[in-house]
Amino acid sequence: MDIYDVVIIGGGIAANTAALYTARASMKPLVISGPDLDQLSLTTTVENFPGFPDGILGPDLIRNSKKQAKKFGALYVDGLVDSFNLKKKLFEVGVKGKKYFARTVIISTGASARKMGIPGEDKYFGKGVSTCAICDAALYRDKIVTVVGGGDSAMEESLALYKFAKKVIIIHRRDAFKASKIMQDRVLKLKDKISVLWDSEVTEVLGDGKFVTGVKVKNLKTNKTTEVKCDGMFLAIGHTPNTKIFEGKITLDEHGYVITDKRSRTNVAGVYAAGDVQDPIFKQAVTSAGTGCQAAIEAERYIENLKAKGEY
Ligand code: NDP
Repeated sequence: MDIYDVVIIGGGIAANTAALYTARASMKPLVISGPDLDQLSLTTTVENFPGFPDGILGPDLIRNSKKQAKKFGALYVDGLVDSFNLKKKLFEVGVKGKKYFARTVIISTGASARKMGIPGEDKYFGKGVSTCAICDAALYRDKIVTVVGGGDSAMEESLALYKFAKKVIIIHRRDAFKASKIMQDRVLKLKDKISVLWDSEVTEVLGDGKFVTGVKVKNLKTNKTTEVKCDGMFLAIGHTPNTKIFEGKITLDEHGYVITDKRSRTNVAGVYAAGDVQDPIFKQAVTSAGTGCQAAIEAERYIENLKAKGEY
């Protein structure tokens, strides 16, 4: 039976950073990544990752970081992890019946931005439909954009967008925001730049085949449908952390995010979490990479400690 010092679950920047650090620490990490693309692979130019003054394409950042980790000996396998168990001091990570055994595990399975499932949404994803204003706002200079949602994310996205866009239109399904008062106040006082369509639902994303040109909006009180011209639509209707297989095994918060301490440790010794799976607030490439690094260093220390105690 092969036992890995560390199995890293996930394929995004947190996973690749953890792989790079643990590989450089001679831990021979095994990285298991599923078929779903990470958030960076779904975006275009990333302009806020330090070290790339001209920006870097999200998919390139992921490809490069994987290549860099491989260079130091990280092993990658494709597969959706479907089970996770603690077996006699070892962790058992399952992929379609195949079991991998590890002394430490780094969970970096990410969080998927929720989508509405309406016509045109997938077709124009990355072509006007986005889930990250902080990543893409600068691409909408002097353009009209819509933001869907009424929580803190919708407020934050709108505040990121108004600095560039000519006009921001928030489309919210109720007549009141769910967001914190302070965030709402910041948005609502920018009346000349940010307007709100209350009690409204986007029913279709419209485009010219290449890019978004507008959205169809239904007023839920009058049932009237109108077309709103816009160059982009930002979805801010929440994220779902990919933690189903850890339920009941690792402590999660009420939204399903893995709870970690300042050192990326979970409640289970030897299990760490990095990236969006443990971060409902920042969700940035650089913070994901940072926590990937933390988790890796902690995993390395854990292994060293096992060796020092003769328990390796
Ligand atoms: P939330 O779940 O708080 O809000 C989601 C919003 O999207 C709600 O207004 C909801 O409507 C709406 N919505 C959900 N599904 C749909 C749908 N299918 N169609 C249309 N609208 C929909 O998610 P957030 O991402 O905003 O926030 C998640 C957590 O992160 C919160 O705890 C938040 O406070 C925190 N956060 C904090 C920030 C900060 O402090 N700076 C920044 C960002 C997030 P409805 O209101 O009707 O439920």
